[in-house]
Amino acid sequence: MEYTEEQGWHDPKIVPYEPILLDPAAMVFHYGQTVFEGLKAYVTEDEEVLLFRPEENMKRLNRSNDRLCIPAFDEELALSGLRKLIQVDKDWIPNIEGTSLYIRPFIFATQPYLGVAPSKTYRFMIILSPVGAYYKEGINPVKIAVESEFVRAVTGGTGSAKTAGNYAGAMKAQEVAEAKGYSQVLWLDGKEHRYIEEVGAMNVFFKLNGEVVTPELNGSILEGITRKSVIELLQHWDIPITERKISMEELYEAYQSGKLEEAFGTGTAAVISPIGELYWNDKKITINNGEIGELAQRVYDTMTGIQTGRTEDPFGWRMTVDID
Ligand code: PMP
Repeated sequence: MEYTEEQGWHDPKIVPYEPILLDPAAMVFHYGQTVFEGLKAYVTEDEEVLLFRPEENMKRLNRSNDRLCIPAFDEELALSGLRKLIQVDKDWIPNIEGTSLYIRPFIFATQPYLGVAPSKTYRFMIILSPVGAYYKEGINPVKIAVESEFVRAVTGGTGSAKTAGNYAGAMKAQEVAEAKGYSQVLWLDGKEHRYIEEVGAMNVFFKLNGEVVTPELNGSILEGITRKSVIELLQHWDIPITERKISMEELYEAYQSGKLEEAFGTGTAAVISPIGELYWNDKKITINNGEIGELAQRVYDTMTGIQTGRTEDPFGWRMTVDID
């Protein structure tokens, strides 16, 4: 659908997937005024299609819009459009075991204008892409490098919005970490370079000294929907979970005294990704002997059970898409 000042958001429609035409002066190319989301649809054994908390993604998209000066859209309308799109484009469904449908809503500035100002016109699109099972050969804990040179975001910046520039700015650090044999980067805060923020596309949780902790929302990390769900799940299980500042010094000390029990990332793609090793200031921090921990496994099984319809959904997180 399109946005103009005169008509607001209008003309929602479903069209065949094809290249789009944009003016070379479209503002998105020059000033990066664009936001996006990522969510998944899963198919149950009875071929029901389930979305996981999609209203949260639409809310977050509008929060990102607000930060990027993009006009808010009607979340109900966008959700009903998404459901229709999945109904129309259902060829992916009885595919391979474990396949899910990755859903990418995105909004970008289309006005052809070279001055720096919010665009007066926008387009909102949703594209779909089937993806295979994330863990085909069992869950492999990842090795992550703690970033010591670059920063991803600062408080007051755009870090808590899901906008392209955050990801473009992170690529250099990712490249450097990969060259050293690490698959991802763990970002520290942009001010003191001490406190843990998040991984490239995941929030992080640690089990320290019997306590589960995750970095608090400070305006520079993304408020992950998996993060929020894991917190709610732990609370439901009466497992104490604290959102607070966690410094690398604290983590290292816990490691040295044998109290760093588990670490895992949370995000739409992997759901739960255990962290087997952290590399920080030339020091290797091995966690749980590089293996998945008990808590991470339990959270993973429960979350994926709810998402794929294998287990009960006591939280009301699922939304069924009628495809008949
Ligand atoms: N942080 C960043 C920077 C991300 O891109 C993502 C993926 N959306 C996450 C955290 C995890 O968020 P979610 O659980 O909503 O996928």
